[in-house]
Amino acid sequence: MNVHEYQGKEVLRQYGVAVPRGHVAFTPEEAVDTAKKLGGDLWVVKAQIHAGGRGKAGGVKLAKSLDEVKQFAEELLGSTLVTHQTGPEGKEVKRLLIEEGCKIEKEYYVGVVIDRSQDRVTMMASSEGGTEIEEVAANTPEKIVKVTVDPAVGLQPFQARQLAYAIGIPKKLANKAVKFMIGLYQAFVDKDGSLAEINPLITTTDGEVMALDAKLNFDSNALYRHKDIVDLRDLSEEDPKEIEASKYDLSYIALDGNIGCMVNGAGLAMATMDIIKHYGGEPANFLDVGGGATAEKVTAAFKIILDDPNVQGILINIFGGIMKCDVIAEGVVEAAKEVGLDRPLVVRLEGTNVEQGKKILNESGLKITAADSMADAAEKIVSLVK
Ligand code: GDP
Ligand code: MN
Repeated sequence: MNVHEYQGKEVLRQYGVAVPRGHVAFTPEEAVDTAKKLGGDLWVVKAQIHAGGRGKAGGVKLAKSLDEVKQFAEELLGSTLVTHQTGPEGKEVKRLLIEEGCKIEKEYYVGVVIDRSQDRVTMMASSEGGTEIEEVAANTPEKIVKVTVDPAVGLQPFQARQLAYAIGIPKKLANKAVKFMIGLYQAFVDKDGSLAEINPLITTTDGEVMALDAKLNFDSNALYRHKDIVDLRDLSEEDPKEIEASKYDLSYIALDGNIGCMVNGAGLAMATMDIIKHYGGEPANFLDVGGGATAEKVTAAFKIILDDPNVQGILINIFGGIMKCDVIAEGVVEAAKEVGLDRPLVVRLEGTNVEQGKKILNESGLKITAADSMADAAEKIVSLVK
């Protein structure tokens, strides 16, 4: 689960990680109010969306007067920001972070990830802050340094110092950098983070080490033990189809293609996506309805697929082991009648009660193309949407 920058900074603050003073604002008036309270003569007006790359896209503005704060807030709120992480449709700005302006000496990068090959948390750092870290990793990988953390003892001060020196943080700021990194690590572990990126971490001309940006991502499977984090969830930033799917406990992930898929079992769902691609098609989603799906669940799943305007055809690929084919068939027929099936549908059923399932589909009066194998099904749906 993602949170906004201002929320991530709040979490970090609790762990002694220095962040600029600031506050969220939902209206231009709130923005000006906050700027007044912060005082000073330089403010940063930052669009809060669940995507990075805002700086380049015009979502981070430096204001030199309260009038400018108001002007930038008016411009940004309600506008759609397109960054390299939002996709071409962009994201609407509904919240702003108003911060005191910082005197940046230099920008660095610090990230915390779970390194699955080591089964451990790894902290990465780079002198190349502010830019896209993916580019640094591709072009100058030697500029990224890493330490792997032993979970029994946590990130050790000597490791943090190693990182700080390796990326060239001035010696006189080493202690502050160590405190920063240890706080960041502790926040990540305590809150079950899956990713934390501080880009940029900055040193200021008055000798501070601060997080100027914060991207925190939390492990969804651990949210049950972090009510404080769940409270930060902004549903308006998430795909409505994925939210709907989570209500029914369906594993659904929206993709860019035009063939909607309904499959049972994650492995079969992956294989189905592969075979669609093999025949030159593009899946519109990953959807695993699970082993013990009810007709109600299948109906919900089918509706979610049909609701997607990008879907030009649907492939149902079910192996009825625990799941029974007639239950699937009933759900499909129910949903299709309710929403109206206006696109080609290819069904491949196999397994428990397959004959009953096929009978239900055949007698439904729906226009369905039957398939005998996965390859046959994929080939048929790809040619039907062409
Ligand atoms: P991102 O583009 O979405 O990653 O947004 P960031 O929060 O990283 O901001 C982008 C850039 O804006 C930073 O790399 C800084 O160069 C600049 N910036 C952000 N806050 C301040 C600030 O307080 N003072 C100054 N001078 N620049 C800032
Ligand atoms: Mn950034």
